[in-house]
Amino acid sequence: MSNIVETKCLIIGSGPAGYTAAIYAARANLKPILFTGQTPGGQLMITTDVENFPGYPNGIMGPEMMEDLRKQAERFGTEINYELIERVDFSGDIHKAYSDGGKEIHAHSIIIATGADAKWLGLESEQKLMNKGVSACAVCDGFFFRGQEVAIVGGGDSAAEEASYLAKLCPTVHLLVRRDELRASKIMQERVINNEKIKIHWNTSTQEILGEEEVEGVRTINNVTKEVSEIPVKGFFVAIGHKPNTDLFKGVLDMDEASYLVTQPDSTLTNVPGVFACGDAQDRIYRQAVTAAGTGCMAALDAEKFLEDKGVH
Ligand code: NDP
Repeated sequence: MSNIVETKCLIIGSGPAGYTAAIYAARANLKPILFTGQTPGGQLMITTDVENFPGYPNGIMGPEMMEDLRKQAERFGTEINYELIERVDFSGDIHKAYSDGGKEIHAHSIIIATGADAKWLGLESEQKLMNKGVSACAVCDGFFFRGQEVAIVGGGDSAAEEASYLAKLCPTVHLLVRRDELRASKIMQERVINNEKIKIHWNTSTQEILGEEEVEGVRTINNVTKEVSEIPVKGFFVAIGHKPNTDLFKGVLDMDEASYLVTQPDSTLTNVPGVFACGDAQDRIYRQAVTAAGTGCMAALDAEKFLEDKGVH
């Protein structure tokens, strides 16, 4: 039996962008319905301290911040569904979306805030040992490797942050950096370089993750000298960036070559009227919680104006 839900404003995604859009849309009386997707709260659910979100002088834990945002969105009347949108149909005047829980949503406007997911190296051994020592989330899985040596790949802020986190649990953290410099911000670089538990392996790529039933080590190659080495580790973490969650909109919404949704300058408007995009799904440059929240606010204001112009009250 079809389960049709009608709304003025459907929000897809539950990170800072989705919840902020929900707060603004609810306060504008759009009675938004928000679908959380597979990870309610988004990427901040797998981070520790957020120290750069304005208003928290002592920092705040990512999950706690997302819980606060959810409560704030609900306080103004956002209806939250813990389901995943699996398919969309933007061909008609009323946009349609279909959830894995069997709901068919008919929406006058849609705000896309589907965020981004971790990238993987693409090695067979990475697949084989997934959740058997291989992880893309130090905060989720680091605890399992306390007291043991681990490796982490990447040179950005994520890798630096996760290496620092792991160093609180593990005697040695091998940071595998493919170039001779880190991409991370200066403050994060300093933390990593000054942490004596973090051993940085410059110009180093991963050839193979070793082990059959669980991770036993990593085989690396020095990209300059071509020297191959093996490092015995029990945990192997990947922190090499993210991919926007936009597969759902392929062939429907304009995207750039890296699959980020394209919005019109100074707005969140996509190429489909009534469909707006915000957060990490459309932002390949800043990708911060605060900028995601900012574009979430913009999307709600754009949706409100669209509905008003359309005469939907
Ligand atoms: P980034 O894209 O910034 O960095 C990815 C890193 O992974 C780069 O060092 C890159 O190397 C390396 N890399 C990519 N592919 C491979 C590969 N196949 N093998 C080995 N290394 C690889 O991603 P992040 O997730 O670190 O950060 C994303 C955004 O989020 C950034 O804007 C960052 O500032 C922000 N962020 C902020 C935090 C904070 O402020 N607390 C915490 C975490 C993220 P190369 O440099 O050679 O390209």
